[in-house]
Amino acid sequence: MTAAALPADSDLPAPGAGAPLRGLLPAELAAWVTAAGAPAYRAEQIFRWLHGQTVETVDQMVNVPPALRQALSDAHPLRPLTADVVQTARDGTRKLRWRTHDGRAIESVLIPDEDEERNRLTLCVSSQVGCALDCRFCATATLGFGRHLGADEIVEQIYRATALAGRRPTNLVFMGMGEPLHNYDNLLRALVLLEHPWGAAFSPRRITVSTAGLVSGIDKLAAAKSVAGQGSAPNLAISLNATTDEVRDRIMPINKRWPIAALLDAARRFPLSHGRRVTFEYVMLGGVNDSDADADRLPGLLRGIPSKVNLIPWNGFEGPEFVRPPAERIRTFQERLRAAGVAVYIRSPRGDDIDAACGQLAARPDVSAPQPPGNLTTIRVGPWPPTTT
Ligand code: SAH
Repeated sequence: MTAAALPADSDLPAPGAGAPLRGLLPAELAAWVTAAGAPAYRAEQIFRWLHGQTVETVDQMVNVPPALRQALSDAHPLRPLTADVVQTARDGTRKLRWRTHDGRAIESVLIPDEDEERNRLTLCVSSQVGCALDCRFCATATLGFGRHLGADEIVEQIYRATALAGRRPTNLVFMGMGEPLHNYDNLLRALVLLEHPWGAAFSPRRITVSTAGLVSGIDKLAAAKSVAGQGSAPNLAISLNATTDEVRDRIMPINKRWPIAALLDAARRFPLSHGRRVTFEYVMLGGVNDSDADADRLPGLLRGIPSKVNLIPWNGFEGPEFVRPPAERIRTFQERLRAAGVAVYIRSPRGDDIDAACGQLAARPDVSAPQPPGNLTTIRVGPWPPTTT
């Protein structure tokens, strides 16, 4: 397949002069290559080096002429993500802290499947430095909004984590720091790059985008399904977390812009490929959203949406006044939903001993002194690889 034979990459905004190299789509690379007077096939070669081999410098592109490599990196620099700290939890979950070219700290989490037979390895990916949405129960919110991550910084998390793990993640979930749909253009660009057959060739069925409820973003993602390479949208997860607007307004300010009814309408409009379901995440907050009345309202809200519900016991961090409900309450809540025909699971906290569980990601630059590049701090809390491998 040549670059020219591919469908138009997308109607994404043009990357502009000096845009980071690993964020360029095949058609954009092809345009640069042609303008540089080189044959068009160089675009495919370069793309394969960036997203298949995931080279760290242009000098590793050994079948590309040195002058072209040099011109390329002058025009479009690579912005490396440096592994800063790797923490391993007792359950084998690993939290990876990266440092960006401008010294920001972000985190990804590698989560091996508890059921080793399935051999699944999930990577939880960040989309922003910090987050703008201010959900009251989330540690990332306490950082405030730093900046959007570029598409290059998003895909780089996956490529570097693959190298660290020694294997490719089977599933990607955009459930790390940030709100992916607030950074829509870079998210979509990253999805196109990750799904491209010249690169990592991830199936959209293996990718889940989680949102706190940006309805405009959900609709854009739905419309973009033909753009992201393989003709379907990624899986959608929605952090619902309440059954009334009164409570949701209080714990998730975004609800004032798009209340529950508008959010669920967007979920109903979202195109699902065969057998797919929308995942609803529901953080269990004791005395806030965990009552029998909540459990009894939820099935009605989800009616007509092929869906499953993940109950996430609240993971604590310093600051807010929430409590995790007792295990018994969570089980009762689950049972009531189940009795009403809802597919509902309790998500066991993974990596909570290293603050790697849902809602605990808050890479703070002051947690440790900046590390010189290449000087990797490994904090072992438990054995790695976990004894199960
Ligand atoms: N901004 C996106 C992506 C982050 S996903 C979103 O909100 O979906 C992070 C998930 O963890 C969300 O479902 C969120 O509701 C949940 N979460 C946030 N803080 C949490 C905490 N302290 N304990 C458990 N889950 C939490």
